[in-house]
Parts: sequence; structure tokens; C-alpha cells
Amino acid sequence: MLRRIFLSLAMVSLLSVSANAADIDVSNAKCPVSKTKPAVAGQSVDYNGAKVFLCCGNCKKAFSKDPAKFAARANAQLVATKQAKQKCCPLTGGKLNGSTVITVAGAKVCFCCNNCKGKAEGKKGDAQVDLVFGKKAFKKAFKVSEK
Ligand SMILES: [Zn+2]
Ligand SMILES: [Zn+2]
Repeated sequence: MLRRIFLSLAMVSLLSVSANAADIDVSNAKCPVSKTKPAVAGQSVDYNGAKVFLCCGNCKKAFSKDPAKFAARANAQLVATKQAKQKCCPLTGGKLNGSTVITVAGAKVCFCCNNCKGKAEGKKGDAQVDLVFGKKAFKKAFKVSEK
């Protein structure tokens, strides 16, 4: 009986260790430089108090040289990898309405109302990513999680 208790305790501690070590799930992450290729766990750079993942060594170099150029997509990736959490509407700072969720650059994002959702949906490509995850919007509406 004691032995069983000990074993289950050991398993619980193993599980919690691996939950920490398995840190970041990059399965939804797209490389912010190539924009379309999947990011890989082995190509990461420290960014904004978190980590951003690239698809290859070349993109890693390009990103390290000029992170600001790729900031909006890197910010989106922080959300897609759950390293950043959304606090409010990126357009207005208003309270989030869960029924307005859309996916931008691989990241799920909510707005305060259908009007804001419509504005975001009306944009395409970089313009859409910039609107939702650009420097100002990200600072207003998202918070990088504490480690
Ligand atoms: Zn690449
Ligand atoms: Zn709104």
C-alpha cells in the first residue's frame, strides 16, 4: 500500500516536471519571417520576454538582425504558442466578447464587438496582422505570461 502511494506520488512529480520542460507548443506557430512555413522548436530567438520560433537558420538570422520588421507576426506567434495572453480588444481596449474569435496568423484573437471583428476581417495579409498584433495593439491588448 505504501509502495503504491509512493509510486503514484513519483508519477505525479514526473508529470509536473515534464509539463514544465515541454515548455512551448510550436505546433500552431508559423515562422514570422517566411510567413507561411511552420516554425520549428530548434530555431528560437529570445524576444519580448518570451521566445519566437523560426523555420530555419536563415530566417533566424534575418529576424535577429531586425526584430522590429517582423514584430507583428512575432507577436501573433507569442499568442499562438500561448506565451502571451489577451486582455482586451486590440482595436478599442474594450472587454472581450468570446463570440468574436477569429484566427490571424495562426493565433486566435477576440474583439469587443462584431464591429471590431468586421474591421479585422476586412483586412488581409500583413495589414490584418498589423492591425491586430502590431506594436501598439499588442502592447494594449496582450500580456506576455510570466515564466
Ligand atoms: Zn526559414
Ligand atoms: Zn469593438
